Amino acid sequence: MKIVMLGAPGAGKGTQAKKIADKYGIPHISTGDIFRANIKAGTELGMKAKAFMDQGQLVPDEITIGMLMDRIGEPDCEKGYVLDGFPRTIPQAESLTEALGARGEKIDYAINVDVPDENIINRMSGRRACLSCGSTYHIVYAPVRKEGICDRCGAQLVLRDDDKPETVKKRLEVYHDQTKPLIDYYGKAGALCTVDGTQSMEDVFQSIVNILGA
Ligand code: ADP
Ligand code: ADP
Ligand code: ZN
Repeated sequence: MKIVMLGAPGAGKGTQAKKIADKYGIPHISTGDIFRANIKAGTELGMKAKAFMDQGQLVPDEITIGMLMDRIGEPDCEKGYVLDGFPRTIPQAESLTEALGARGEKIDYAINVDVPDENIINRMSGRRACLSCGSTYHIVYAPVRKEGICDRCGAQLVLRDDDKPETVKKRLEVYHDQTKPLIDYYGKAGALCTVDGTQSMEDVFQSIVNILGA
């Protein structure tokens, strides 16, 4: 099962992708997490990506596409995966379609988690992230058991540099310009399913399970 998550920054793609990965036993691949891991490790890729991420801009396709292709070529991806944060541009989607098509494969589901812009700033300012395991929490909607500590792995939680309101506004603009057209792209490919992302996390997940099958 090959799945792509679509939706604005903060729509809940990562939250739902983690649940999908757990339930269906496929890897959760987040390009944002891969970039953040590289920044933390101080790699050259990380340094390059950080300059764009801090401005709320997309990391250029030349960097991102190759990185994602390498990742989905790894052995744990043979039975499928859930992509979170990729593709984010039409050229990224075309590269993915092409690479899969060459092997007679395709994206089975593009799940669009639909949340209006008005709700996004609120979600992002309350988001707390674990840079060790990629879990995200929310100070109101998804509180942790012990303040500042990841429930899943025990690492320290952070407020992401790019979750400041000014940067979030820029990221929303970039989303509307460059990423939203993917809704149409996957619609034409016959893979699009839309869920109402303003529901509770559990209800959003139930809507997704209804689509993917129990
Ligand atoms: P969110 O889902 O909250 O927007 P992500 O963790 O997916 O955040 O992405 C954080 C940042 O990483 C993006 O704003 C962008 O700069 C960069 N990034 C992640 N995925 C991609 C991608 N597929 N193409 C280009 N840039 C990306
Ligand atoms: P994305 O990966 O799309 O950027 P996240 O999964 O990181 O989004 O979610 C953004 C923030 O909103 C996080 O703080 C998360 O805990 C919270 N969140 C996710 N889904 C919901 C929901 N259905 N209702 C309320 N808050 C949510
Ligand atoms: Zn963690």
